[in-house]
Amino acid sequence: MADKLLIPRDQWLALMAELRRRGGGRTESGAFLLGKRQGDRRLFERCVFYDDLDANAYSTGVCILYADAFERLWGICRSSGLQVLADVHTHGGAATQSEADRRNPMIARPGHLALIVERFARDPVWRHRMGLYRYEGSHAWTNLSGWRSRRILNTGTFT
Ligand SMILES: [Zn+2]
Repeated sequence: MADKLLIPRDQWLALMAELRRRGGGRTESGAFLLGKRQGDRRLFERCVFYDDLDANAYSTGVCILYADAFERLWGICRSSGLQVLADVHTHGGAATQSEADRRNPMIARPGHLALIVERFARDPVWRHRMGLYRYEGSHAWTNLSGWRSRRILNTGTFT
């Protein structure tokens, strides 16, 4: 049974709106989702957008981060006591992993979740049309996209 990722609905909608705004309908945009693990639940607390780690993160049209950006990210994790639960980025087209996505996990740690949102996160964002992939290590991923994502990704209201 895979971990569940819980994101309160208002924060989820705000995240989608911010990804949409930062990509401007022209480039990909992305963020790390930070929070805490509690048993088999991953509780989202805040996100860190790629362009806040590196202002040029989207300049090629796709999301690219270098070592400096990761240094900043680890600094935020240290000072906040949070860990990276997942990452999310947008695609202009379908929310399927690109070859680059597959070969270059943002966090190469088994269990890491990578979310992809189609159409630069244009409204409305349908959860069952999102890409959801779990990294298994050694460049292997499990595709949990589509309706399967409902078992993992919970963006409803909860306490
Ligand atoms: Zn991608």
